[in-house]
Amino acid sequence: MKTPNTKLQRDPSFQTSNAKTSVASKGSEQFSTRMNTTNKEDEVSPELTTQIPANVNRRAFIIRNAVIGAAAVMTGRTWTPEARAQQAAKEAGPANPSLPPLDSTSMSPKLDVVKKSKGPVMTILEEFYKVGPGPSSSHTIGPMRITYDFYQRCQKLPADQLGQATGLKVHLYGSLSATGKGHGTERASLAGLLGKEPATVDPKFLDDMRENPNQSYPLKLGNKNFNLSLKDVIYDSAKGDFPHPNTMTCKLMGGDKPIYELEYYSPGGGFYEWKGYEPPKKGQPKYPYASMKELRKHAEDNKLSVAQLMMANEVAVSGKSEEQINAFLDKIAKAMIATVKTGLSYKDDVLPGPIKLHSKAATVWERAQDDKYQTDKVIAQVSALALAASEENARGHLVITAPTGGSAGVMPAIVYALTQGPRQMPMEKAREGLLAGAAIGYLCKHNATLSGAEGGCQSEIGVASGMSAAFIAQVMGGSPLIVENSAESALEHHLGMTCDPVAGYVQVPCIERCAFGAVKAWIAAMIATNEIASRHRVDLDTTIKTLADTGRDMSTKYKETSEAGLAANLVLC
Ligand code: SF4
Repeated sequence: MKTPNTKLQRDPSFQTSNAKTSVASKGSEQFSTRMNTTNKEDEVSPELTTQIPANVNRRAFIIRNAVIGAAAVMTGRTWTPEARAQQAAKEAGPANPSLPPLDSTSMSPKLDVVKKSKGPVMTILEEFYKVGPGPSSSHTIGPMRITYDFYQRCQKLPADQLGQATGLKVHLYGSLSATGKGHGTERASLAGLLGKEPATVDPKFLDDMRENPNQSYPLKLGNKNFNLSLKDVIYDSAKGDFPHPNTMTCKLMGGDKPIYELEYYSPGGGFYEWKGYEPPKKGQPKYPYASMKELRKHAEDNKLSVAQLMMANEVAVSGKSEEQINAFLDKIAKAMIATVKTGLSYKDDVLPGPIKLHSKAATVWERAQDDKYQTDKVIAQVSALALAASEENARGHLVITAPTGGSAGVMPAIVYALTQGPRQMPMEKAREGLLAGAAIGYLCKHNATLSGAEGGCQSEIGVASGMSAAFIAQVMGGSPLIVENSAESALEHHLGMTCDPVAGYVQVPCIERCAFGAVKAWIAAMIATNEIASRHRVDLDTTIKTLADTGRDMSTKYKETSEAGLAANLVLC
C-alpha cells in the first residue's frame, strides 16, 4: 500500500513550508512568513518581524511580501524593508471590510450586554454559574428570573396602584416565542410571577404545571389576590425588530390596560436586563483584561495561574472575601455532582415532550463499568456523565449554567469525572478548575455570545467545551498558556455549529451534544498538556473572534428558531 504521507515527510522537496520560509527570509532582511525563534525550541513567538499595515488584506500582504522577497533572490534586486512592505501593501489591496460585532446586526446598542463588550471583563461568578431549572438558561432560567424580578417590583408598588390591578400578563417575543414551548418558557415565566426563584424552586412544582396545564395558582400582591394560569403567558410575535432576539414584556393589568409594564431581555446564561437597565456598581478588577492575551500577560508577569488571577479579580470586583468565593464555588461543584448523580439514577425513562426520547445515561454508564469494554471505558464514562446532567436539564430539573442550560451536561461531567472518578481530585482543585473555566466563559461572553439564539450552538456547547478543557488543564497544573491552548482547541472544533433543537425541545441534538462537548474537552486538554505549548498556532482570542463572526454570518434559521436543520428535517412519528 502506498504511504504518501511518509514520502512527504522524508522527501525534502515536499517540505513546502520550510522551503518557502527560507527563500523568503534570505531575500528580505527580516520580514517573512517565518516565525521568530529563540534558541529554546519551546519559545517560538508567532509575532511577525514587520508590522502588517492597517487596512490591508492581511493574508494577501503576507503572501505578496514573501513573493517579492523570493523574486528579489532570483533577480538580485534589493528592497528596503519599508519599500518592500509598501509594495506588498499595494499589491495586497484593502482589507476585507471588518466584520461588525455580533450584536450590531441583531441587538440594540443600548443593551448593557452590548455595551459591556467594551472595557475590561467585569462579570462575577454569581452572575455566571447559576443554579436553576432546565432546559435553557436563556429560555427558562432567564425568563423565570425576569418574572421573579417583576413580581418583586410589583410587591413594592404603591397601594393605590396595586388597588387597580386585576392580573398579570407576560408576552414572549422573538426566539422566546418561536421555541419557548419546548423550553418550558411559559411554566418558568408563570412560576417567577408566582414568586418562585430559579435556584430554590422545587422542580416538582414545574413538573406539576406541565401535567396540569389548566390549573390556576393564587397570588397575593399587597392586599390584592389574583389567580394566574399558563394562559397569562402569551406567545406573541416570533418575528420583528426586537432589541434582542429574546425579548419579553411583563405587565400588571388593570382591566384590559397595563398599569405598570417593563420590557426585559434574556441574553443567555441566565443573565437578564430591562429597558433602561444600569448595571450595578462594582469594584475595579485587580488585573483588568478584555482578551486572553491581556489575561495571560498579567498572569505571566505576576507568576499567577489563571485560577489565582481570577480569584484576585473576583475579590476586587465582587467585594467578597476569598472564603465567601470558595464557599460559592464549592456549592456550584457540589450541585454539578448532584445533578450527574440524579441523572444516572433514572433507568431508561421517557423525557418530557413530543420526541419521546428515552434517557440513556444509566445504560451507557453501566456498560462503562463492564470490563469487557475496557477500551471504551473513559470515553463511555465521560459521555454517560454528560448525558446524565443533560437529561436532568431536559426533565426541567435543577441544573447549573456553565455557561447555559442546553450545555449544562458538559462541565458537570468533567467535574464529576475528576473528583469522583479514579483520580479523586480534592474539591479545592475543582475551585481552581471552575475559576479557569469562568475565565474562558467570561471572554466568550464579552467578545462574542453565550446564546444559541445569537450565535448558534457553537456559543453554548462550544463555549462549555472550551471552559471544560480549561478546567482540566488548570487542575492538571497547566500554565496559563496551556489553559488557553486547551480552551482554544476545544472551542475551535465547535466553530460553525448551528442550533436546531427538534420541536423546540432541548433534547435533540442537545443531549448527545453535551457528551461530545465533554469528550472533545478531554481531547483538547490531552493534546494541549502534551504538545509544546508555544507551538500551538491558534490563539484563543482569534477563535473567539471567529465564533462571533461565524455567529453573525449564520442564517437566523439556525439560531434557536427550530426552523431549519434537524428541526426541519426530522419527522416525528
Ligand atoms: S442545539 Fe445547542 S444551542 Fe441549541 S438549544 Fe440545543 S444545546 Fe442549546
